[in-house]
Amino acid sequence: MLESTGVPTVEDLKARMPSKERLARGPVAMIECFQRIPCDPCYHSCKRGAISKLIDINDIPQVDYEKCNGCGLCISNCPGLAIFVLDQNYDEKYGLIKMPYELLPRPEIGEEVVALNREGQEVCKGKVVEVRDGKIQDKTAIIGVAVPKKFLMEVRNIKVGRSK
Ligand code: SF4
Ligand code: SF4
Repeated sequence: MLESTGVPTVEDLKARMPSKERLARGPVAMIECFQRIPCDPCYHSCKRGAISKLIDINDIPQVDYEKCNGCGLCISNCPGLAIFVLDQNYDEKYGLIKMPYELLPRPEIGEEVVALNREGQEVCKGKVVEVRDGKIQDKTAIIGVAVPKKFLMEVRNIKVGRSK
């Protein structure tokens, strides 16, 4: 149960997942926000109107996957670090996960990192292919990590091996 473990169940995730058809068409956001809390920066950050306006500020945000182009603007704006952009077609073998990252040191482009699941367990190796860490990200960097396609729905964090 999400309430007791903090980890979403398969059923929780199914409800938040873009369809296979949408994933096949290119980058798209997946919002892993499951609990009713008074929060809405995700809605305000999306310039494409792809995140539903919350009638009640406690409502759980819904993504219109047809409007979302996977730009990733919403990722840094979510205080819950709950938004990911998934690109199943990054290349032939690898998918790309864009994720929020607040730890230091930041990974560097080209760096190999340990890819972790939602419970913090090691899943596979990942390669950092994008780091967005400018003023607009306001200390919540966006890290793009390429992982084998089969792990696209599993990997949600990284461990950076190097120390500075
Ligand atoms: S990824 Fe871009 S288009 Fe999609 S919901 Fe986030 S801000 Fe909107
Ligand atoms: S900003 Fe993040 S935590 Fe807040 S409602 Fe949106 S997805 Fe949930």
